[in-house]
Amino acid sequence: RYLDLTDFMLKIKQKFTPAFKEKEMELKVSCPEDLFIMADPSRLEQIIFNLLDNAIKYSPSGAKTLLTVSRKKKDIYIKIKDNGKGIPEEDLPYILNRFYRVDKSRTRSLGGTGLGLSIVKELVLAHGGKISVKSKEGKGTEFELIFKGAG
Ligand code: ATP
Ligand code: MG
Repeated sequence: RYLDLTDFMLKIKQKFTPAFKEKEMELKVSCPEDLFIMADPSRLEQIIFNLLDNAIKYSPSGAKTLLTVSRKKKDIYIKIKDNGKGIPEEDLPYILNRFYRVDKSRTRSLGGTGLGLSIVKELVLAHGGKISVKSKEGKGTEFELIFKGAG
């Protein structure tokens, strides 16, 4: 039931690097050794997929995304930080809601349903975790997930 995050994040890096390369973006992953988490690997992968998918979609080519794992006492922090377009302050309180998108125009160029982040929120909460987001328009966005670590 315990998931080895070091191993897991290595696989995440290998799996997602091609999608970043395709947009001439960079994915940097940093995770210490010996970190374990009580999580379902396929659900955790879905969480990270949805967040990285957004980082790619809402960043220009040449941008960089950092996936950083750290531990404070018993808590495991997973941060996903991009230097993309950012989210306007007035949209930020709603961004984790179902179907909420910043660009609501029918002619929007980027596909999607606006479900990605609501699924992330549900999955994080189902694991007893917490999620928060900070963003500055034109600067970038950072999602922070907090899970209970093992041991
Ligand atoms: P889907 O994920 O269902 O394909 P989506 O990406 O539009 O569609 P969400 O992932 O829920 O939906 O994101 C909601 C909205 O939040 C996006 O439409 C976008 O406006 C904004 N957003 C999400 N992540 C980022 C990010 N990393 N940078 C800038 N804006 C973001
Ligand atoms: Mg999305």
